[in-house]
Amino acid sequence: MRELNYPVNIIRTNRRKTVRIYVSRNFVKLYVPKEISENKINDILHSKKSWIISKIKERSLLPPKVPKRYISGQLFPYLGRNYSLNLRFGRENVVKLKRGHFNIFVLENKENCDQVVKKLLFEWYLRKAKKLLIKKTIMLSEEMGVKPKTIVIKDYKSKWGSCSIKGDLCYNWRIVMAPMQVVHYLVAHELCHLLEHNHSQRFWQQLSFFCSHIKESRIWLNKFGNNLIDL
Ligand SMILES: [Zn+2]
Repeated sequence: MRELNYPVNIIRTNRRKTVRIYVSRNFVKLYVPKEISENKINDILHSKKSWIISKIKERSLLPPKVPKRYISGQLFPYLGRNYSLNLRFGRENVVKLKRGHFNIFVLENKENCDQVVKKLLFEWYLRKAKKLLIKKTIMLSEEMGVKPKTIVIKDYKSKWGSCSIKGDLCYNWRIVMAPMQVVHYLVAHELCHLLEHNHSQRFWQQLSFFCSHIKESRIWLNKFGNNLIDL
């Protein structure tokens, strides 16, 4: 922050009408409407100064991110539940979710086992995401009376999903790590954009007919969205 000697990243966007502040361990990010003046930005930073300082302190107390290991005992989430990894050598590379464990068999003598397990897990998540999200989208779209054009699963780094004006739906495969009701919320949210291409009051009202846990799901996504769960 200018007064604090802390880096502030200003992101001007057409998509925002209000200001959003994101505080990380190393910097402050400010998402602002495109036309906002420099003075106004300084006013906002000034008025939010003590809140920002308290957030920086909070963030600096969090443990540093350590690279994920792919060894037995490590936890990986699926539909809101954590499963511990159980690594074995076998006759083929395969992942099986069974009795609270991710049982992963890898071919013996494989060098760089970490990378093999990571790839196997990624492919497993991707397969599950495709199956679940396509099924859920078709079911919900019939209920909502809308027709998406395409459904694509992507490896987004900073968002959970999107819906284009033409009706192309995209989902982040990582959403299958979230509880089922959050998955339901995301699908209903993107499909609802086929009725309302914005986040107006009408949009949220329409969405509430098809999703009864909007608030809880948004809290969950907010909590994990800034730091997307990764492999
Ligand atoms: Zn939206």
